[in-house]
Amino acid sequence: MSFAKQLAQYDNAAVHLAINSKTTVDVERALAKDKLDLDDFQALISPAAEGYIEEMAQRSMRLTQQRFGKTQQFYIPLYLSNMCSNICDYCGFSMGNKIRRLTLDMEELEAELDAIKQLGFDHILLVTGESERKVGMDYFRLVMPKIKARFSHVSMEVQPLDQAEYEELISLGLDAVMVYQETYNRHRYAEVHPKGRKRNFDYRLATPERLGDAGIRKMGIGALIGLDEWRSDCFYVAAHLQYLERKYWKSKFSISFPRLRPCEGGFQPKSVMSDKQLVQLICAYRLFNPDVELSLSTRESEHFRNHAIPLGITSMSAFSSTQPGGYADTSEKALEQFEISDDRRPEVVAEAVTNAGYQVVWKDWDRALG
Ligand code: SF4
Repeated sequence: MSFAKQLAQYDNAAVHLAINSKTTVDVERALAKDKLDLDDFQALISPAAEGYIEEMAQRSMRLTQQRFGKTQQFYIPLYLSNMCSNICDYCGFSMGNKIRRLTLDMEELEAELDAIKQLGFDHILLVTGESERKVGMDYFRLVMPKIKARFSHVSMEVQPLDQAEYEELISLGLDAVMVYQETYNRHRYAEVHPKGRKRNFDYRLATPERLGDAGIRKMGIGALIGLDEWRSDCFYVAAHLQYLERKYWKSKFSISFPRLRPCEGGFQPKSVMSDKQLVQLICAYRLFNPDVELSLSTRESEHFRNHAIPLGITSMSAFSSTQPGGYADTSEKALEQFEISDDRRPEVVAEAVTNAGYQVVWKDWDRALG
């Protein structure tokens, strides 16, 4: 059964009600277990669990250290292009926004790679808007070998592709793909994606399955927190993770939890998640799944990120620029996808990680090592 079929069995209103009706008894039952199911996960993200965050944090910290040690893996996004042929109401790159559009040519790409290398990163996340014409497979075929020659771990966050296209990119060195469903609520998804190929909810939803079939080493999933009611969306992410792990047991998985940030266009989130609730969510994912990588971007503040280090997070971006060409040329400010919150230099973030008693991992994977 596909995940789309599994998702169709849930009723949004019933899921919302189930999570919000959980009691402290449900939370305590979940906390008493070693292996949690989806019902337990609902309890841990419910309002009833807000009084148990300290206990959840302690347990999350222990589980994370057992599985990952006291480490934080560092990565940096490289924005290759802000061209996009979709309209997504919440994004600065949305086609209707009047911003200067840019796709890095090979010279600009080399300049960005030089600038990023000098910062010390070895794990790079390639990001583009979704424009098949300008940044489709022809462009990826061109850039991937150049990037792979200089970075041992290459991830992508671009438009969903077909299985054969993923297979080709894997053969060129692609290690991981992040594809966030944004929201698992079909109606809300249609509302905030009024135009473009991204409107195809089912094609996007099936992307992790195409990735698994293509044999990707790692895939990242998640929801854009605030697009719809956050508790329900985060529950569907957990259900999706469970489905994928069972089917694609050879792949590794990561989850991100981006909270909506201000951007060009002034979109207002539908539900707002507090810092405390984000801590609750991070711990809930860890307790539900001790093996999943949990990733925190520079959307979050310096204060929050420093405090989140021991909670369950295993990878962080640092010093991110969300504008194409932003590392080699720091003067341009007109092309950002969203405002970042933590703009500390990588060595400063690394020092904060070290001060918390953790080790920064700049490189943790090389194909040559198997
Ligand atoms: S979210 Fe992605 S697809 Fe939508 S406008 Fe932004 S870059 Fe384009």
